Amino acid sequence: AAKSKTTTVQLYDAGLDAGSVQTLSLLSELRRAVERNELRLFMQPKLRLADSAVVAAEALVRWQHPERGLVPPLDFIPFAEQTGFVSQLTLWVFDAAAGLLAQIGAGTLRIAVNLSTRDLLDLEFPARLDAILDRHGVPATGFCLEITESAIMDDPQRAQAVLQRLSDRGFKLSIDDFGTGYSSLAYLKRLPVDELKIDKSFVMNMEKDEDDAKIVRSTVDLAHNLGLTVVAEGVENALIWRQLRALNCDEGQGYFMSKPMPSADFLHWAQRWHQG
Ligand code: C2E
Ligand code: CA
Ligand code: CA
Ligand code: CA
Repeated sequence: AAKSKTTTVQLYDAGLDAGSVQTLSLLSELRRAVERNELRLFMQPKLRLADSAVVAAEALVRWQHPERGLVPPLDFIPFAEQTGFVSQLTLWVFDAAAGLLAQIGAGTLRIAVNLSTRDLLDLEFPARLDAILDRHGVPATGFCLEITESAIMDDPQRAQAVLQRLSDRGFKLSIDDFGTGYSSLAYLKRLPVDELKIDKSFVMNMEKDEDDAKIVRSTVDLAHNLGLTVVAEGVENALIWRQLRALNCDEGQGYFMSKPMPSADFLHWAQRWHQG
């Protein structure tokens, strides 16, 4: 068992070398994971700070590996990005999210799905989502699509075209990990963005670190001045929750309210939460 663990680490580390045998075997393993139904949809609630209502939930993927157990996304998403497999992964997650929304009932809450750089380079991507929406009978307005600054900057013009198509359909668009990119703020003006999501690195310690608190405060103001809603991720305790409320931040997500949980558990959690 100890030996196979070492091999696993080498497999994931080999991601950069796209031509290697290890990469090919991890890629075929990921393909098999989809065929064998080993991917799992986890959900983490996004709460409105003003009244603690669950207004959304973020879909976060995990891989239930037969030998390795539950594999976290950062162990296979970067690799999936390099090989292009991430496009299939996005569609898998969106399909699972649409199924969940159909079950919950559209209009109750929004489901947030993470997009990759590849998705924003694919002009056919919006039409691929249409097909999934049709199949589940849920509207685009039931979803928020989270996009990182670096994914936009890969090819800003193409990304703008794809984002415009998504926005026209009614998808809410959110800039994820806001503040960690090295991009310019100009794209906020140009792109059809609806929400800023403050990266958890600024939020997690804001009750102890004055500079972090100032960055959060400025980001909330910036978002509101641009007419955007603002979400803080990494809300780890009650102090941070109260501080964000005082700053007029709109929504919060974090371990203080709930860690990501299997989607079946999320349904029960949300019901219990609303009953108090
Ligand atoms: P992300 O999109 O920034 O997602 C938020 C991450 O922060 C999640 O990690 C979540 O579990 C974690 N988190 C939430 N609240 C707290 C908190 O209070 N404290 C701390 N320390 N962490 C918190 P997770 O699920 O491991 O996902 C990591 C990253 O993997 C995501 O970061 C995202 O970039 C990527 N990812 C996950 N699922 C998908 C997916 O379906 N598609 C794509 N393209 N990427 C995904
Ligand atoms: Ca995200
Ligand atoms: Ca984030
Ligand atoms: Ca992140």
